Amino acid sequence: MDCIFCKIAGGEIPSNKVYEDDSVLAFYDLVPQGPVHILIIPKTHIASAAEISADNSAVVAHIFEVAAGIAKEQQLDNGYRIVTNIGEDGGQSVKHLHFHLIGGRQMAWPPG
Ligand code: AMP
Repeated sequence: MDCIFCKIAGGEIPSNKVYEDDSVLAFYDLVPQGPVHILIIPKTHIASAAEISADNSAVVAHIFEVAAGIAKEQQLDNGYRIVTNIGEDGGQSVKHLHFHLIGGRQMAWPPG
């Protein structure tokens, strides 16, 4: 499968890693949308949050544990945002589940 985030997870394409364990990888986004912008992905291919099921949801819970730890390390004590885009209307450009952890600035709501 020609999936850029599978290649990053497999080490075929380099990334600026923040955290890694057996099931999860976190790395800096190439085009940061804030002072801190980190992507957190499952190493196994899940196309988007629309594909989360009882069979694969454990890694998603783990991703949120990892995210909380990264946010503390990054000293995002004033808050931050975690977002996942789904499909065309959601603005998803990479079809491998990823959570954007963005912080270090005031976020707007509603999102554009
Ligand atoms: P989305 O548009 O929600 O699918 O988010 C995809 C994100 O992946 C964008 O924020 C891109 O900047 C980021 N991105 C794409 N390729 C890379 C890469 N090789 N390394 C780091 N971030 C990437």
